[in-house]
Amino acid sequence: MADEWREKLTGKLTPIHLYKLTPKTNCGECGFLTCLAFATQAVVAQADIDACAYLDPDALKPFREQLDEQHRSGIGVRREGFEKALEYLRGRLQQCDLRGVAPSIGASCMEQNQGHALEFEYFGERVIVTKEDIRSSSGEELNPWEKIFLYNYIIDGAANPSGTWVGMESLPNSVSKIKSLKTHCENRLAKEFGGNLQKLSEAISGLGQEITADLDQVDFAVGFKVLPKLTIRVLWWAEDLEEGFDSQVKFLFDSKVLGTLDLESLLFACEQLTERLLKPAR
Ligand code: SF4
Repeated sequence: MADEWREKLTGKLTPIHLYKLTPKTNCGECGFLTCLAFATQAVVAQADIDACAYLDPDALKPFREQLDEQHRSGIGVRREGFEKALEYLRGRLQQCDLRGVAPSIGASCMEQNQGHALEFEYFGERVIVTKEDIRSSSGEELNPWEKIFLYNYIIDGAANPSGTWVGMESLPNSVSKIKSLKTHCENRLAKEFGGNLQKLSEAISGLGQEITADLDQVDFAVGFKVLPKLTIRVLWWAEDLEEGFDSQVKFLFDSKVLGTLDLESLLFACEQLTERLLKPAR
């Protein structure tokens, strides 16, 4: 069924595409007065697509994949929103002493014609940051959301890890993010890999994985080094049909992670990790 819907999606997604998937009852449960208002905001990344519980799951799967791709490349996203944020953060970076901040965030600092530049790893690839821009050393263009995420990491500096791993629910003021992490990341990965953990080894290669955690009671555990001072640990439990146990995934963070990134940025990192893990599986 999902494939049938995939074939119907051609070109750029618009609010009308999403509106057609809603029941058009204007029930308001998503927080918007009408289904059209919800669709309009979700397509421009201003509302969570999961806020409507009445979307046909078969139709939603290919829609969500294409919409995520659209958002990552900045298509359809309200440009003025992220451009303002980028401009503000670029301004803040220009006030930063890049050489001074480098050790704290695990970056190396290089002399360049117009001053200093930072270089560090992001999902296993090198990124180069100057006071004017951020680019990947491979030449691949980073999308605006990734740049905002990286600016936040540099400007706020990083906290030393405590070495204690905790779930999102143990981080302060995280109530509103727990459901998003579960829906957008943990449940999707459990569904994709829970019944076939072998697929994981291919999916994780090249993603800056740092350690295979040796934990009791877990079928598979790995730490992904998203940034030099940000490792996200992901635990998998495979499904057990005989025991009636569904596969599960749990993300863990260092208990001091909010000294390095705010909750929004942390959730963004989890979503990016999820997308990268799911990419080869599609
Ligand atoms: S929850 Fe769904 S059905 Fe209800 S108003 Fe929002 S989009 Fe429409």
